[in-house]
Amino acid sequence: MSRNGGAGGGAVHNDGFSSQDSGDTSGSEETTWISWFCQLRGNEFFCEVDESFIKDDFNLTGLSSGVTYFNYALDTILDENIPDGELDERQQELIEVSAETLYGLIHARYILTSRGMQAMYAKYIDGQFGRCPRVYCVGQQVLPVGESDMPRCSTVRIFCPMCWDLYFPRSRNHYSLDGAYWGTTFPHLFLHSYPSVVPQRSKEKYVPRIFGFKIHHTSQQVQRNNGTLVDDDEGNSNNVVSTSRRRRAAIQGQTNGNTQVRGSTAAGAFARGAS
Ligand SMILES: [Zn+2]
Repeated sequence: MSRNGGAGGGAVHNDGFSSQDSGDTSGSEETTWISWFCQLRGNEFFCEVDESFIKDDFNLTGLSSGVTYFNYALDTILDENIPDGELDERQQELIEVSAETLYGLIHARYILTSRGMQAMYAKYIDGQFGRCPRVYCVGQQVLPVGESDMPRCSTVRIFCPMCWDLYFPRSRNHYSLDGAYWGTTFPHLFLHSYPSVVPQRSKEKYVPRIFGFKIHHTSQQVQRNNGTLVDDDEGNSNNVVSTSRRRRAAIQGQTNGNTQVRGSTAAGAFARGAS
């Protein structure tokens, strides 16, 4: 994934996609590495980090030990010229990958600053992070988040501020992005900083039904889902709480069993006590 068309290829991008501006367009010479990188397909979750932020050594504290060819990677990001012949092709490829990693780690810090958050706010309002796939969140805009602040632990997730849950990004282009490039804090600090965009939680909740009846809380599927069902040595499922009476009733219902008849014992077992 070299900006100069090299065969590099960080873990960030899927094969088969060319960058949107890596061709010989008229303005390409004026494009900074940061702009080029952020405009690559699959990098939509990144905002452009201010060069002044990157040039402040304080902001890079602790990053040099985790990035191969740190100084060269930093020069790459800042479009500093590296003298011809100083690096062989293999080294240049490694540096391109390191530059992406370094940019990601700097990015995770930048988006916690007020300027970084403003940049992310613009992308959020524009819907560039996608929308929650949950039906009752009715297309709520989401925010990128990592499950770890350490790189190479997990890929980026999306956090929905309405249902407060995590999802995989919708686009496959984002599946291999490292979650540490956004970190665990970002969406929550973001919502703390912009309370006006915090949505009200939807009161609607999905209620599973069988033939129109709610599923009883003593049913095996509910208990298994709740983790209150245990398997005995023979692999049979047993309720932690004694259920012999309920099971007899359920068997009785199945024996009587035409579940298509509303009000039958079996269907009644689903409905009784449902809340
Ligand atoms: Zn949601």
